[in-house]
Amino acid sequence: MKATIRSRTPETPRSLGHACALFATIWLLITTSTVADAAEPEQGSLETTHLHISWVDGVSAEAVNLVATSGEEFYEEIAELLGDEPPRKIRVLLQGPAETPDHKQRGYPHVDSFAQIHLYQYGNSDSSYISALAHEMVHVFRFNRNQNADWFFEEGFAELIALTVDPSLRGFPWYDTPIVIAAGQWLESEQALPMEQLQKEHKALNLPCKAQAYSLRSAFFHYLADTYGLQNMLKMAEEESAGSLDQYSRYFGKSLKELEAEWQTWTRRQFVATPEHEEKGRRYRTQTPIQYMHICP
Ligand SMILES: [Zn+2]
Repeated sequence: MKATIRSRTPETPRSLGHACALFATIWLLITTSTVADAAEPEQGSLETTHLHISWVDGVSAEAVNLVATSGEEFYEEIAELLGDEPPRKIRVLLQGPAETPDHKQRGYPHVDSFAQIHLYQYGNSDSSYISALAHEMVHVFRFNRNQNADWFFEEGFAELIALTVDPSLRGFPWYDTPIVIAAGQWLESEQALPMEQLQKEHKALNLPCKAQAYSLRSAFFHYLADTYGLQNMLKMAEEESAGSLDQYSRYFGKSLKELEAEWQTWTRRQFVATPEHEEKGRRYRTQTPIQYMHICP
């Protein structure tokens, strides 16, 4: 993950959905050219039971195998948790290095408007291709919700499910740092992004403040599932407009503001009770790729 700024999924563009016929025609023209562009660098492809994986020149066989085997494992577990499965095989594109040799960013893991997952390599690590795979797969499982989705909830939920099926903490925003250290150090340094504000202004804050947004929101959702039960979170996720404010009270018995206060108190307590927490927090900020990211005041 190295010297590059990396983020999970930006807001996924709206799908064709309820567009009018004229718009649909224009959209299809755009679609055709975009698909052709996207397909151009394809150098190989492999189909597994639930995935259609393709890759650009230079991607190793080990990376492809890792994505195939881990992807199938993640798929089975996500399907078991979420129920509804995508209507067709998930397309996964392995796009090569996340940055150019002169350190310009080429891309970041995301799901495009055709429900295709794009993954990138960080440094020389083949395993970096799968660090965002489970998270992006959750977005594909819930792709038909994109049009009216509450993205604070969708991102928090995707990361919660990703951590459930792949608890490795290997990629962004953790970089092998325990959740309570990553979240606790933002709180203790008074740089925590308020969850209430992130929920309200998600589009404006999520990517610009991604270091704080992704780690804190994920830690918060993890706490909710741990404290109030994963089943409650899964039920909330089934709601047609999952993530509306009234649902927090309904499923967890308290308002979002109250839940946030409770989670912060718990996290601070856990953080300061962790041996060498200050040193661990400092390492997260100065020795992982977090050091290169913009920190919102
Ligand atoms: Zn995402």
